[in-house]
Amino acid sequence: LLEIRGLRKQFGTVEVLKGVDLALNKREVVSIIGSSGSGKTTLLRCVNLLEEFQGGDIVLDGETIGYRISKGRRYRIRDRDLSRQRSMTGMVFQSFNLFPHLTAAGNVMLGLRKVRRLGRDEARAIAEAWLGRVGLAQRGDHYPSQLSGGQQQRVAIARALAMDPKLVLLDEVTSALDPELVQEVLNTVKSIADDGATLLIVTHEMRFARDVSNRVVFMEQGQIVEDGPPAEIFGNPRSQRLAEFLRNTR
Ligand code: ATP
Repeated sequence: LLEIRGLRKQFGTVEVLKGVDLALNKREVVSIIGSSGSGKTTLLRCVNLLEEFQGGDIVLDGETIGYRISKGRRYRIRDRDLSRQRSMTGMVFQSFNLFPHLTAAGNVMLGLRKVRRLGRDEARAIAEAWLGRVGLAQRGDHYPSQLSGGQQQRVAIARALAMDPKLVLLDEVTSALDPELVQEVLNTVKSIADDGATLLIVTHEMRFARDVSNRVVFMEQGQIVEDGPPAEIFGNPRSQRLAEFLRNTR
């Protein structure tokens, strides 16, 4: 479903992604772990086309996204095509990013109305179904400020899933939550994974990565160092660097 080949990304003169290769099959759940600053978030943002990148390709469902090559040069594609391709992925952020002036249902409906161009009733029905799916059936009319962090994050998950993306990107979705609210969000992600969504997850929750993933990828300094099933990554790390990282996170 997703194929990233030789992805390179610089911020100014600093190279943050140094040739990343990563492939994901449909219905696969892959977690990316690694120390702070290793490039995990930047990698997700490139896949969601929130960042420009300087080298390599990202192919999603057979389509090269973000760029076209003409006469050996790379050109960013037009805004209209970018937003269409961006809606092929759904991203959930650490800080929820809900619109404060819209209710929970309004937040979920927005993309359905503006991007998918659905009518109000149809959008509302889909929004209500997804809010129910994340355990918030009674909260559609609440504003973000009236919801707990865990509930807000579940609204954000409903908003991403309601758009029916091919791939869902989850960027440290529990990092901004009080400890007692982490589990409800992880349970929601787990149930979405069990339903067959394709997920690419950046997380600092090692136990969660082990429980939910088909594969775990360890990133260090802009490169993928190890990629394997959770039992191998956590139980039998091949590189010194991963072994050290795991010692420090336990
Ligand atoms: P964390 O776990 O702390 O979120 P990460 O692995 O997700 O870390 P990134 O956020 O991808 O790492 O950042 C990788 C590197 O890129 C860091 O050195 C960071 O300072 C740098 N970086 C990220 N965004 C920008 C930006 N907009 N401008 C300049 N440098 C940036």
